[in-house]
Amino acid sequence: MYFRYHPFILTFLDELDAEIVLSEKTNKEILNLGVKCCIDEACLPIKIYHGHVASIADKCDLMIIPRIIKEKGGEFICPKFCGLPEMIANSISNIPVITYNPIYMDSKKKLEKWVLGLGKNITNSNNKIRQAYKKAVRAQEAYSLGIEDEQYDNKIALVGHPYCIHDSFFNMNIIKKLNNMGVGVITEEVLSKEPFKDQWEPLFKKPFWDFTKNSYGFCMNIYKNYNANGIIYVSSFGCGIDSVSIELIKNRVKDFPFLVLKIDEHTGEAGMDTRIEAFISMLIERNDLTEDNISSFRKHLYTH
Ligand code: SF4
Repeated sequence: MYFRYHPFILTFLDELDAEIVLSEKTNKEILNLGVKCCIDEACLPIKIYHGHVASIADKCDLMIIPRIIKEKGGEFICPKFCGLPEMIANSISNIPVITYNPIYMDSKKKLEKWVLGLGKNITNSNNKIRQAYKKAVRAQEAYSLGIEDEQYDNKIALVGHPYCIHDSFFNMNIIKKLNNMGVGVITEEVLSKEPFKDQWEPLFKKPFWDFTKNSYGFCMNIYKNYNANGIIYVSSFGCGIDSVSIELIKNRVKDFPFLVLKIDEHTGEAGMDTRIEAFISMLIERNDLTEDNISSFRKHLYTH
């Protein structure tokens, strides 16, 4: 979630004159550390998160754990986020003080309470905390995350949770791989969230999880408005929420090109490459791609 909210947290801490210690970008060492200290049954993002914590546990005095419960009203984040502080406290030795307070972003009052609680770890000045909070909100509002590769005629909608789409180590650099094959990418943040609401109506029950709402709404928007040639869903093996989202999407998109890539710590890059190449070949067979794209893809195959 750091990909989504880093302007807020960095600005807030900076305004409080805290020295910020960031873990490195996800890499093999971080993955190995996480796999070693996390329970086997956890999904890969949770293992990677453990690795990030373990890599800087002895370098800081306070560790901020994103126990996010809600981003918006009426929808919830995965329960694994709710249990993150306890998982970390029980899996990693020598951790510094960690934050336990839950984060409710759907209520200004509750968010302020969380911010005040966090700030109190750093300064006694409520006024300073409030000023830092205001600046942090402004920094977050000025930021937008999504990707839309305008320069490509053909695009693939890349679907998944922010830590699956924007962590290039996790997804083995899928965006670069697609670009090298002459295909651009579009992600859910680029399309407005408002039209997504209409997409849930035909469902028997409104999705409970916000990841499901966003992924499903985004895919339906792509499918109906045809603003991409196909959909690739990047998922983590063992993710309960995705197991529901993917089935819901599959039931609706029917013959629209749709590929699911499930990743865990044993997934090999060669296997990923083969599946992506097969997907692009299939789009070519369907005459879904332009001539320019086909020649880029052939060039890619000759050079790999
Ligand atoms: S939503 Fe899925 S991938 Fe994300 S933390 Fe929960 S189980 Fe893991």
